[in-house]
Amino acid sequence: MPRYLIQTFGCQMNVHDSRRIEEVLGRAGWEPTDESALADLVLFNTCSVREKAEHKLLSVLGTVRALKDARAGVVIAVAGCVAQQEGEKLLSRAPFVDIVLGPDNIPELPGLVASAQAGSPPIARTVFDLEDPRFLDAIPSDTSASAGAPREFTSFVTVMKGCDERCTFCIVPHTRGPERYRHADAIVAEVRGMVEAGVREVTLLGQTVNSWYEPGTEESLRESQFAHLLERIAREVPSLPRLRYTSPHPRHVTDALLHAHRTLDMLPAHVHLPVQSGSNRVLKRMLRRYTREHYLERAHALRGSRSGLTLSTDLIVGFPGETEEDFRETLSLVQDAGFVAAFAFKYSPRPYTPALKLGDDVPEDVKDERLTRLLEQVAVQQSAHLASLVGTRTEVLVEGPSGRGEGEPGRWRGRSTRHEIVHLDAPGELDLAGATVPVTIVQANAHSLVGRPEVDLSSLPRRAAPPAVPRPTGRVKLPVMGKSARVPSGHA
Ligand code: SF4
Repeated sequence: MPRYLIQTFGCQMNVHDSRRIEEVLGRAGWEPTDESALADLVLFNTCSVREKAEHKLLSVLGTVRALKDARAGVVIAVAGCVAQQEGEKLLSRAPFVDIVLGPDNIPELPGLVASAQAGSPPIARTVFDLEDPRFLDAIPSDTSASAGAPREFTSFVTVMKGCDERCTFCIVPHTRGPERYRHADAIVAEVRGMVEAGVREVTLLGQTVNSWYEPGTEESLRESQFAHLLERIAREVPSLPRLRYTSPHPRHVTDALLHAHRTLDMLPAHVHLPVQSGSNRVLKRMLRRYTREHYLERAHALRGSRSGLTLSTDLIVGFPGETEEDFRETLSLVQDAGFVAAFAFKYSPRPYTPALKLGDDVPEDVKDERLTRLLEQVAVQQSAHLASLVGTRTEVLVEGPSGRGEGEPGRWRGRSTRHEIVHLDAPGELDLAGATVPVTIVQANAHSLVGRPEVDLSSLPRRAAPPAVPRPTGRVKLPVMGKSARVPSGHA
């Protein structure tokens, strides 16, 4: 059986795409490997949202060139946003790359690999499926699952792809194309299949996930119908314990969505709502299409929609023209919104983005200093929030053992209803993965909590675990490309 190795960079959308690539290859008779020396296909699923991704990719690619020299027939492929962004140019810069694959061309991968192995010249397939958008179903079961592979109790379901927003700093509209929406019937069916396979938490995924509307909706009625989608999932798949979504755009936080948060128990009490800046002047230059006042009004309305609901966000410092005063408005918005966590980044110019014309005029040392101050502010708020939870009760969906690898015996890690990381202990060989455990919070760490189970753990009802996922879990013996793992979301 031929073997593939995939290295993934970037946001949850890319992680999700890598899973679809694995499934497409699996159906074509491929199996995964951790060892580049054993791989017949090495694929990099790339991210171009943050700085100099293309340069880093080229340097990583340089190191895998030796694989082709060592063994005839090895195919090197580049997928994801850098592939879509650079297309054929990538083939001329890295002539040993065989396939450049856009996100919408994943189903074509097995055929392209077969052609490459048969001696076809390198090819770039980066065509958006504008006329007939394809959404690859995640496969919740796989009878070929290998023993010892990880079981997954959480899963993503794509509801839309592409982005029409055109934020001036963002390359996503260029690399993912215009917005395309998936039919509700297909979304609900995929969620149902996940739940039947044992998945306990589904995250609906899209670049501006809450702009969703049913494809074919008459143009004059095309406003967000996302809340209706949430309600339909809750109605038709009531056994799903948790339904999340990422990433919402603030201008599509409708009153109907607030109502959904008030009434649907399966929505966790946490929303990741990107804001990017607290300054109206900067928001306008970013073309975010909302003001600080509008964002805060929606943020407070969300927090008020359900007791204990928390918010996290994405922030950029050092956007072109950002003054100290603008930055202080970001700091004050972080306080006013009461964020309990944030992903914060220094602005870096991206190719093909409108902000390139604005220059990059905030000195690097000023960006560094602002980023440090911002992260300190977020850390203070996060610590205060976590400390405030000591003594309270919550339910933890246990995802697996704590720590890396096997973790500490008897120590488990899961997520609270607000998505905080919670560790808890279980006696002996008890397997808690997939269980929902009521706990009292007994300790707050810098970024996580410790919970004391409030039930006899051996008596917990647990449904059948999802099948093990046959994919590499060990160390991938390839160089690491940048800090892309910090790119948080999919991403509004
Ligand atoms: S930041 Fe989000 S909303 Fe803005 S263009 Fe990029 S993906 Fe679209």
